[in-house]
Amino acid sequence: MPQPAPGSPSRDNKPLLFLDVDGPLLPFRARRDTEDPLLARIDRADGPRLRALNCRLVWATTWMDEANEVVAPLLGLPELPVVRWPDDDDVPIRGMHWKTAPLTRWARGQPFVWLDDEIGDMDRLWVAGEHPAPALLHKVDPYLGLTEDDLETVRRWVLRSDSPRLGR
Ligand SMILES: [Mg+2]
Repeated sequence: MPQPAPGSPSRDNKPLLFLDVDGPLLPFRARRDTEDPLLARIDRADGPRLRALNCRLVWATTWMDEANEVVAPLLGLPELPVVRWPDDDDVPIRGMHWKTAPLTRWARGQPFVWLDDEIGDMDRLWVAGEHPAPALLHKVDPYLGLTEDDLETVRRWVLRSDSPRLGR
């Protein structure tokens, strides 16, 4: 499938949702009883839960294309756009995550959610200053993986961020 240009606006104006794999979808703990280490940690129900969030899902992970090849089929997700990372991991401000600036650029000023287990205050501060639209940087506990509380936080944010976007 041809990749859409980074951050191409969608007609429906849904927020982007940048998705990390290690931590949120593959927590450190086993979630299922199987010999396969990957299958043990993945929860297939995460796919339908994520699709129901009414966002445009985008892989933001070091898995890169393997997220589509390996993880997406297990979760019943379609092939998703993939954020390509720069070769250097220079960050604008010390203490920021190396993903923050590239994925914010990818969003091109559109509202976005970012689910990752390595988000910190510096990332939130930087995005608040550099990104003109609403953004939710939500840290997922890598021991638990994505929880119902995480999903509820995203749902509430999507509902709240919907009204200011009217007329954009
Ligand atoms: Mg991670």
